[in-house]
Amino acid sequence: MVDLLLELFRQNMYFVTLWTALLLINGYFAMEPVIIVHGGAGDIPQSRVKGKFDGVKVAVIAGHKVLLQGGSALDAVEAAVVSMEEDENFNAGYGSVLNLRGEVAMEASIMRGEDLNSGAVTLVKEFRNPISIAHKVLTDSPHSFLGGEGAKLFALEKGFSTVPPESLISENAKNALEEFLQHGEFGRTEIGVKNEGGVGTVGAVAIDKHGHIAVATSTGGMSGKAVGRIGDTPLIGSGTYADDNVGGVSTTGHGESILKYCLAHSIIKLMENGSDANTATKEAVTGMTNRLNNTAGAITLSKNGDVGIYFSSTRMSWAYIKENKLFYGIEHNEVIADDYAP
Ligand code: ASP
Repeated sequence: MVDLLLELFRQNMYFVTLWTALLLINGYFAMEPVIIVHGGAGDIPQSRVKGKFDGVKVAVIAGHKVLLQGGSALDAVEAAVVSMEEDENFNAGYGSVLNLRGEVAMEASIMRGEDLNSGAVTLVKEFRNPISIAHKVLTDSPHSFLGGEGAKLFALEKGFSTVPPESLISENAKNALEEFLQHGEFGRTEIGVKNEGGVGTVGAVAIDKHGHIAVATSTGGMSGKAVGRIGDTPLIGSGTYADDNVGGVSTTGHGESILKYCLAHSIIKLMENGSDANTATKEAVTGMTNRLNNTAGAITLSKNGDVGIYFSSTRMSWAYIKENKLFYGIEHNEVIADDYAP
């Protein structure tokens, strides 16, 4: 390569030399792609820990593969979230919790940090992967947020197939609703402490080799929610936010509190004002909990790929891949690191 540059220089091709050098420098300094996922914050019972660990690891690897193959951050976060929507250990896609009528009504959002473009859907009942529909809203719709019947029409138009709504209902979700109906308490999204019924919202934040950031979040909401209830997850600024100039955040926890506090954007604002990813995540989650007396969790990446993880709930499962290591945890101050060779 150096020979090529010298030869170009000798031939007085200054501009070509300069461009070639810039391209090489750019390739050399391409960012290390990083991806982090969460599998929901809440009172996760011990019996559910293994399923969550396995699920977040599979999901983060699925997203990381997309990044390694040169895929965009947007495609990577979608792949990671689809993996968890397919896994009944999580409260998203198959295995979503049920509303008061015993129905699944899912919500998802996705955002691209390069141009702040976003896509979101809510009250989705007959599709397996709401995050993929949200992604299509981002790329193929003049609108940012579609709900209910309109989201269904859009999805059908774009070639998504419906599934019978009952096929999305798991035994755990049915048990969680029963438990809620017996002694329900809103504010706790993981209500399965006794009978392991509840499961978690999912999210992913990625930065690709070009330094572009994307975030995706998907949920079934809360067990026993009212028909038509919309939470924080599909709301840009609450459940999801991405800005290439700052970073990306996906949140989970008590939806009504997260949306009042605009939790994802609160973390972004703190980072914009100079906080590092971890401090900003901790400060905003703690601030929300102190102010509104409900719990939440968030995962964050800064524009440089620094990681922030914090939750005020009992547990939150998370995993990330960076520098050939897969890190994961679910308890407070727990960080397990495995070697990871793709
Ligand atoms: N934030 C979600 C909701 O309230 C639930 C969760 O994150 O567990 O819809």
